[in-house]
Amino acid sequence: MNTDLKTQLQHLLELQQIDIQIYDLRRIKEEKPAKIAELEAAFEAKRGALAGLEKAALDLQKQKKDREGELASREESIQKLQGQLYQLKTNKEYHTMQQQIEDAKADKSVIEDKILEFMESIDASRADVEKEKARLTEEEKVFTEGKKALQAEIREIDDKLACLETQRKQATPLIKAEVLAQYDRILKIRGGLALVPVQGTSCGGCHMFVPPQVINMISMYDTLVTCEMCNRILYLDERSAGT
Ligand SMILES: [Zn+2]
Repeated sequence: MNTDLKTQLQHLLELQQIDIQIYDLRRIKEEKPAKIAELEAAFEAKRGALAGLEKAALDLQKQKKDREGELASREESIQKLQGQLYQLKTNKEYHTMQQQIEDAKADKSVIEDKILEFMESIDASRADVEKEKARLTEEEKVFTEGKKALQAEIREIDDKLACLETQRKQATPLIKAEVLAQYDRILKIRGGLALVPVQGTSCGGCHMFVPPQVINMISMYDTLVTCEMCNRILYLDERSAGT
Protein backbone atom coordinates (compact mmCIF):
# COMPACT_ATOMS: atom_id res chain seq x y z
CA MET A 1 0.00 0.00 0.00
CA ASN A 2 1.18 3.44 -0.93
CA THR A 3 0.46 5.37 2.26
CA ASP A 4 1.70 8.47 0.52
CA LEU A 5 -1.08 8.18 -2.07
CA LYS A 6 -3.63 7.61 0.66
CA THR A 7 -2.50 10.83 2.34
CA GLN A 8 -2.61 12.61 -1.00
CA LEU A 9 -6.22 11.49 -1.44
CA GLN A 10 -7.09 12.82 2.00
CA HIS A 11 -5.60 16.19 1.09
CA LEU A 12 -7.44 16.09 -2.22
CA LEU A 13 -10.68 15.39 -0.37
CA GLU A 14 -10.14 18.46 1.80
CA LEU A 15 -9.44 20.48 -1.32
CA GLN A 16 -12.54 19.09 -3.01
CA GLN A 17 -14.65 20.17 -0.06
CA ILE A 18 -13.32 23.71 -0.44
CA ASP A 19 -13.83 23.63 -4.21
CA ILE A 20 -17.43 22.44 -3.90
CA GLN A 21 -18.16 25.58 -1.89
CA ILE A 22 -16.25 27.77 -4.35
CA TYR A 23 -18.13 26.40 -7.35
CA ASP A 24 -21.49 26.63 -5.57
CA LEU A 25 -20.89 30.26 -4.63
CA ARG A 26 -19.70 31.12 -8.12
CA ARG A 27 -22.87 29.62 -9.58
CA ILE A 28 -25.03 31.63 -7.18
CA LYS A 29 -23.02 34.78 -7.92
CA GLU A 30 -23.38 34.31 -11.67
CA GLU A 31 -27.17 34.49 -11.40
CA LYS A 32 -27.16 37.83 -9.60
CA PRO A 33 -26.41 40.23 -12.50
CA ALA A 34 -29.28 38.71 -14.50
CA LYS A 35 -31.57 39.28 -11.53
CA ILE A 36 -30.43 42.90 -11.26
CA ALA A 37 -30.98 43.34 -15.01
CA GLU A 38 -34.47 41.84 -14.64
CA LEU A 39 -35.34 44.38 -11.92
CA GLU A 40 -33.95 47.19 -14.06
CA ALA A 41 -35.92 46.09 -17.12
CA ALA A 42 -39.14 45.84 -15.13
CA PHE A 43 -38.60 49.32 -13.69
CA GLU A 44 -37.71 50.78 -17.10
CA ALA A 45 -40.92 49.32 -18.52
CA LYS A 46 -42.91 51.11 -15.80
CA ARG A 47 -41.05 54.33 -16.52
CA GLY A 48 -41.93 53.84 -20.17
CA ALA A 49 -45.60 53.50 -19.25
CA LEU A 50 -45.46 56.88 -17.48
CA ALA A 51 -43.76 58.49 -20.48
CA GLY A 52 -46.60 57.11 -22.61
CA LEU A 53 -49.21 58.71 -20.35
CA GLU A 54 -47.34 62.02 -20.37
CA LYS A 55 -47.23 61.97 -24.14
CA ALA A 56 -50.94 61.24 -24.33
CA ALA A 57 -51.63 64.26 -22.08
CA LEU A 58 -49.50 66.50 -24.33
CA ASP A 59 -51.25 65.18 -27.44
CA LEU A 60 -54.62 66.09 -25.96
CA GLN A 61 -53.38 69.59 -25.16
CA LYS A 62 -52.12 70.01 -28.68
CA GLN A 63 -55.45 68.90 -30.09
CA LYS A 64 -57.25 71.34 -27.82
CA LYS A 65 -54.98 74.13 -29.01
CA ASP A 66 -55.70 73.26 -32.64
CA ARG A 67 -59.44 73.46 -31.95
CA GLU A 68 -58.97 76.83 -30.23
CA GLY A 69 -57.22 78.07 -33.36
CA GLU A 70 -60.15 76.85 -35.45
CA LEU A 71 -62.55 78.59 -33.11
CA ALA A 72 -60.69 81.90 -33.40
CA SER A 73 -60.70 81.80 -37.20
CA ARG A 74 -64.39 80.91 -37.18
CA GLU A 75 -65.13 83.90 -34.94
CA GLU A 76 -63.10 86.11 -37.20
CA SER A 77 -65.04 85.05 -40.27
CA ILE A 78 -68.36 85.57 -38.47
CA GLN A 79 -67.35 89.12 -37.60
CA LYS A 80 -66.21 89.74 -41.16
CA LEU A 81 -69.50 88.46 -42.54
CA GLN A 82 -71.47 90.55 -40.08
CA GLY A 83 -69.47 93.61 -41.13
CA GLN A 84 -70.34 93.00 -44.78
CA LEU A 85 -74.00 92.34 -44.02
CA TYR A 86 -75.06 96.03 -44.15
CA GLN A 87 -73.21 96.76 -47.36
CA LEU A 88 -75.39 94.32 -49.29
CA LYS A 89 -77.84 95.69 -51.85
CA THR A 90 -80.46 92.99 -52.31
CA ASN A 91 -82.63 91.09 -49.95
CA LYS A 92 -81.50 87.82 -51.50
CA GLU A 93 -77.84 88.62 -50.91
CA TYR A 94 -78.65 89.64 -47.36
CA HIS A 95 -80.54 86.45 -46.76
CA THR A 96 -77.75 84.23 -48.18
CA MET A 97 -75.12 85.87 -46.03
CA GLN A 98 -77.24 85.61 -42.94
CA GLN A 99 -77.50 81.89 -43.62
CA GLN A 100 -73.69 81.73 -43.92
CA ILE A 101 -73.41 83.46 -40.58
CA GLU A 102 -75.82 80.98 -38.98
CA ASP A 103 -73.85 78.05 -40.42
CA ALA A 104 -70.57 79.46 -39.10
CA LYS A 105 -72.15 79.96 -35.67
CA ALA A 106 -73.33 76.33 -35.65
CA ASP A 107 -69.80 75.17 -36.60
CA LYS A 108 -68.42 77.35 -33.81
CA SER A 109 -70.71 75.76 -31.28
CA VAL A 110 -69.61 72.24 -32.35
CA ILE A 111 -65.99 73.29 -31.94
CA GLU A 112 -66.71 74.75 -28.49
CA ASP A 113 -68.24 71.44 -27.41
CA LYS A 114 -65.15 69.61 -28.65
CA ILE A 115 -62.91 71.96 -26.69
CA LEU A 116 -64.92 71.24 -23.54
CA GLU A 117 -64.53 67.50 -24.16
CA PHE A 118 -60.79 67.95 -24.57
CA MET A 119 -60.61 69.87 -21.30
CA GLU A 120 -62.28 66.99 -19.50
CA SER A 121 -59.99 64.44 -21.16
CA ILE A 122 -56.96 66.55 -20.28
CA ASP A 123 -58.01 66.69 -16.61
CA ALA A 124 -58.48 62.90 -16.53
CA SER A 125 -55.20 62.38 -18.35
CA ARG A 126 -53.32 64.61 -15.91
CA ALA A 127 -54.81 62.74 -12.98
CA ASP A 128 -53.57 59.48 -14.54
CA VAL A 129 -50.09 60.95 -14.93
CA GLU A 130 -50.01 62.09 -11.30
CA LYS A 131 -51.22 58.70 -10.07
CA GLU A 132 -48.63 56.90 -12.16
CA LYS A 133 -45.89 59.25 -10.93
CA ALA A 134 -46.74 58.47 -7.30
CA ARG A 135 -46.82 54.76 -8.06
CA LEU A 136 -43.48 54.97 -9.86
CA THR A 137 -41.87 56.72 -6.88
CA GLU A 138 -42.88 53.73 -4.74
CA GLU A 139 -41.71 51.31 -7.42
CA GLU A 140 -38.38 53.09 -7.57
CA LYS A 141 -37.88 52.58 -3.84
CA VAL A 142 -38.64 48.88 -4.16
CA PHE A 143 -36.35 48.62 -7.18
CA THR A 144 -33.47 50.49 -5.54
CA GLU A 145 -33.74 48.37 -2.39
CA GLY A 146 -33.92 45.15 -4.40
CA LYS A 147 -30.87 46.13 -6.38
CA LYS A 148 -28.95 47.11 -3.25
CA ALA A 149 -29.83 43.78 -1.62
CA LEU A 150 -28.56 41.85 -4.63
CA GLN A 151 -25.36 43.90 -4.73
CA ALA A 152 -24.87 43.23 -1.01
CA GLU A 153 -25.34 39.52 -1.67
CA ILE A 154 -22.66 39.67 -4.37
CA ARG A 155 -20.25 41.39 -1.98
CA GLU A 156 -20.98 38.78 0.68
CA ILE A 157 -20.26 36.00 -1.81
CA ASP A 158 -17.03 37.74 -2.85
CA ASP A 159 -15.92 37.85 0.79
CA LYS A 160 -16.66 34.16 1.24
CA LEU A 161 -14.89 33.35 -2.00
CA ALA A 162 -11.81 35.30 -0.93
CA CYS A 163 -11.78 33.34 2.31
CA LEU A 164 -12.13 30.02 0.48
CA GLU A 165 -9.40 30.95 -2.00
CA THR A 166 -7.10 31.55 0.96
CA GLN A 167 -8.01 28.13 2.37
CA ARG A 168 -7.35 26.64 -1.05
CA LYS A 169 -3.90 28.24 -1.24
CA GLN A 170 -3.11 26.70 2.13
CA ALA A 171 -4.32 23.26 1.05
CA THR A 172 -2.65 22.96 -2.36
CA PRO A 173 1.04 22.87 -1.28
CA LEU A 174 0.31 19.55 0.46
CA ILE A 175 -0.58 17.97 -2.88
CA LYS A 176 1.96 16.81 -5.44
CA ALA A 177 2.08 18.99 -8.54
CA GLU A 178 1.10 16.25 -11.01
CA VAL A 179 -1.79 15.06 -8.81
CA LEU A 180 -3.02 18.62 -8.38
CA ALA A 181 -2.73 19.27 -12.12
CA GLN A 182 -4.84 16.20 -12.89
CA TYR A 183 -7.38 17.13 -10.23
CA ASP A 184 -7.60 20.75 -11.44
CA ARG A 185 -8.10 19.66 -15.04
CA ILE A 186 -10.99 17.34 -14.10
CA LEU A 187 -12.41 19.97 -11.74
CA LYS A 188 -12.71 22.46 -14.59
CA ILE A 189 -14.21 19.99 -17.06
CA ARG A 190 -16.60 18.46 -14.55
CA GLY A 191 -18.02 21.67 -13.10
CA GLY A 192 -16.35 21.61 -9.70
CA LEU A 193 -16.44 17.92 -8.89
CA ALA A 194 -13.19 16.03 -9.56
CA LEU A 195 -12.96 13.59 -6.67
CA VAL A 196 -15.87 11.30 -5.87
CA PRO A 197 -16.45 8.33 -3.60
CA VAL A 198 -17.42 4.91 -4.84
CA GLN A 199 -20.97 4.42 -3.62
CA GLY A 200 -21.64 0.70 -3.35
CA THR A 201 -20.62 -0.34 -6.85
CA SER A 202 -21.22 2.92 -8.63
CA CYS A 203 -19.38 6.17 -9.26
CA GLY A 204 -20.42 8.96 -6.89
CA GLY A 205 -20.11 11.42 -9.79
CA CYS A 206 -21.90 9.84 -12.77
CA HIS A 207 -23.50 6.84 -11.00
CA MET A 208 -22.18 4.38 -13.54
CA PHE A 209 -21.09 0.90 -12.51
CA VAL A 210 -17.60 0.55 -11.09
CA PRO A 211 -16.30 -3.01 -11.66
CA PRO A 212 -14.93 -4.92 -8.63
CA GLN A 213 -11.41 -5.02 -10.08
CA VAL A 214 -11.42 -1.23 -10.26
CA ILE A 215 -12.58 -1.00 -6.64
CA ASN A 216 -9.80 -3.42 -5.81
CA MET A 217 -7.30 -1.18 -7.59
CA ILE A 218 -8.45 1.82 -5.60
CA SER A 219 -8.04 -0.06 -2.33
CA MET A 220 -4.42 -0.82 -3.17
CA TYR A 221 -3.48 2.89 -3.24
CA ASP A 222 -0.84 2.31 -5.91
CA THR A 223 -2.06 4.82 -8.40
CA LEU A 224 -4.89 7.31 -8.82
CA VAL A 225 -7.89 5.50 -10.28
CA THR A 226 -10.45 7.37 -12.35
CA CYS A 227 -13.98 6.51 -13.39
CA GLU A 228 -14.07 5.09 -16.91
CA MET A 229 -17.19 7.05 -17.73
CA CYS A 230 -16.73 10.52 -16.26
CA ASN A 231 -12.99 10.47 -15.65
CA ARG A 232 -13.32 11.71 -12.08
CA ILE A 233 -10.83 10.48 -9.50
CA LEU A 234 -12.40 7.75 -7.35
CA TYR A 235 -11.78 7.10 -3.67
CA LEU A 236 -13.16 4.68 -1.11
CA ASP A 237 -15.06 6.24 1.71
CA GLU A 238 -13.69 3.86 4.31
CA ARG A 239 -16.22 4.86 6.94
CA SER A 240 -19.08 3.63 4.77
CA ALA A 241 -17.15 0.85 2.99
CA GLY A 242 -16.14 -0.61 6.32
CA THR A 243 -12.70 -1.72 5.07
ZN1 LIG B 1 -18.13 8.48 -12.99
